[in-house]
Amino acid sequence: MLNIVLFGPPGAGKGTQSERLKEKYGLVHISTGDVFRGLDPESELGKLAKSYSDKGNLVPDEVTIQILESEVSKYPDAKGVIYDGFPRTTAQAEALDKFLASKGTEVSMMLSLVVPEEELKKRLIARAEVSGRKDDADPAIIQNRINTYNNSTAPVADFYRAQNKLSEVDGVGSIDDITNRLFAVIDGK
Ligand code: ADP
Repeated sequence: MLNIVLFGPPGAGKGTQSERLKEKYGLVHISTGDVFRGLDPESELGKLAKSYSDKGNLVPDEVTIQILESEVSKYPDAKGVIYDGFPRTTAQAEALDKFLASKGTEVSMMLSLVVPEEELKKRLIARAEVSGRKDDADPAIIQNRINTYNNSTAPVADFYRAQNKLSEVDGVGSIDDITNRLFAVIDGK
């Protein structure tokens, strides 16, 4: 299986690039952010997720890991999976390793999109116009998401670096240029 963790801060372009990778390599795309936003807003789980995501905080690991595992289990015949927005903590990364090992597979690589903070903020503010997302609309929430990324999520890159699975990719430029950089890394492995 080709299991790609597509990594990077909010606004790095993970969702956009995931669609390109999905198409080229025939993968399943799983975005935990999309899964949370797709929950019934009246359900207990939907309310719980929203109470964190609207403020730009991480949904607790226990809940997130369970949701991720049940999502992956929907695609038993997948050729591979793009993990977008997961793992976001070291505990999630450890859980993913265990989960994939139980299925006789593993993370193939982490591709980390590198984008400077000022550029991220510009992109997220522009995205608020079209996404209608509460967490895109408020500069204080955007800052909280970036801080959460720096404090809790960035260390996940070290986890995969230690396994020799990390490749950093310049996430600034045209969408096509960035796609081609990602293709080059995947095809080079
Ligand atoms: P972005 O990467 O643009 O910030 P996402 O759509 O990936 O947004 O995620 C939106 C929100 O969903 C996050 O701010 C967080 O509250 C929640 N979320 C998504 N993935 C995870 C995760 N792996 N662990 C905890 N919370 C998550």
